[in-house]
Amino acid sequence: MKVHIEFFVLLVYYMINNKYTSLYLSKGNVSMNLSKKALTISPSPTLSIDAKYKEMKSNGIDVIGFGAGEPDFDTPEHIKEAAIDAINAGMTKYTPASGTNQLKEAICKELYDDNGLLYNISDIVVSNGAKHSLVNVFSAILNPGDEVIIPAPYWVSYPEMVKLADGVPVALHTDEDTNFKFSPEQLKAAITPKTKAVVINSPSNPTGMVYSKAELEQIAKVAVENDLFIVSDEIYEKIIYDVVHYSIASFGEDVKARTILVNGVSKSYAMTGWRIGYTASAPEIAKAMANIQSHATSNPSSISQAAAFAALNGPQDTVDAMRSEFQLRRDFLVSVIGKIPGVSCLAPQGAFYVMMNIKNVLGKELKGKIINNSDEFCAHALQTCNVALVPGTGFGADGYVRWSYATSMDNIKKGIERIAEFVQ
Ligand code: PMP
Ligand code: GLU
Repeated sequence: MKVHIEFFVLLVYYMINNKYTSLYLSKGNVSMNLSKKALTISPSPTLSIDAKYKEMKSNGIDVIGFGAGEPDFDTPEHIKEAAIDAINAGMTKYTPASGTNQLKEAICKELYDDNGLLYNISDIVVSNGAKHSLVNVFSAILNPGDEVIIPAPYWVSYPEMVKLADGVPVALHTDEDTNFKFSPEQLKAAITPKTKAVVINSPSNPTGMVYSKAELEQIAKVAVENDLFIVSDEIYEKIIYDVVHYSIASFGEDVKARTILVNGVSKSYAMTGWRIGYTASAPEIAKAMANIQSHATSNPSSISQAAAFAALNGPQDTVDAMRSEFQLRRDFLVSVIGKIPGVSCLAPQGAFYVMMNIKNVLGKELKGKIINNSDEFCAHALQTCNVALVPGTGFGADGYVRWSYATSMDNIKKGIERIAEFVQ
């Protein structure tokens, strides 16, 4: 009997305790009491649209995807072979949490060859894609309430990443009149006592715009004067047309010391699935990020690291070939959009995206439905013409839709024909 009473007391204690912690079982229902922070994070719209497109395709629908920014090319042969060799050589164990020295050395060499930047291996952290690198960056530099200035249109994940690290994203709006670029004056005006960092993404996703050397120098000056970190996302560095890429970190030691440069192999080497990104920064910041990563994920895949080494260290002709093909697609897409009444676009200078201005068709009826915003435009285009585009809302730019031209010329031709018909 005594045993039964003790069991009963324990059971009641357990139920009361759990009511006030996380999971409370009542009448067979589970009432979820999740973290308030998690509830403020929205799903990635680019990945959601890509998932929807892939699902439609697998159901046999003739859908054309311009959603996710993922090169359609296969990973070059020599990179795949390096991964197979790594498996056969037994490189299948944990590596140091922040990456192998071999890969870090190749990254340092690349940063020097491409941008004249001198880094040591202790400045480098290799992560599971540039997305993970950016999450590490914000976790390492932000305290609750710190503001991060993010130029809009921005890549969909920056604001959510800042929120994940308890920071406050502050959008800095830009428009087509300034080629979607912000001025140093605009940046100065957005700075408050709480501003901790500014994000630069050149070439930009989603606008494809590239900041010139003079523009970056002025931005760097404002960052130094106001003691800001600069988060420089250079993932599209090698996918650039007609203009030259400059890394903001290259404008002097004081700028380099406050810049966290983010890059990776996903886009330049068609390696999105391999998940290798990296940062270069002052060693104190690198150490903080490596510590965080050592508890969160440990090292990125040892095999992917060997493949990334081959990508950076091997022949670069595949990068040039992909870049030339992207340029042909960009030229074609931009010229056709220019001929469609009601929509327009700027010619991007890098990355593989076009932001199409749809402001003139808003409020009008397209295929039996009044279109009020870019979400409705994209949903209706997907439903009625089987074309997947990403609405500008996720990029902080309603009135625009994003095309990713990382797909074949045939698809681009078919897709743009369908959209021309849709808006007419
Ligand atoms: N930065 C930008 C601007 C991007 O477009 C992407 C694309 N996903 C990333 C970072 C992350 O790249 P990764 O696939 O290496 O995580
Ligand atoms: N960065 C790419 C895009 O913008 C891939 C998807 C994602 O990670 O957001 O489409």
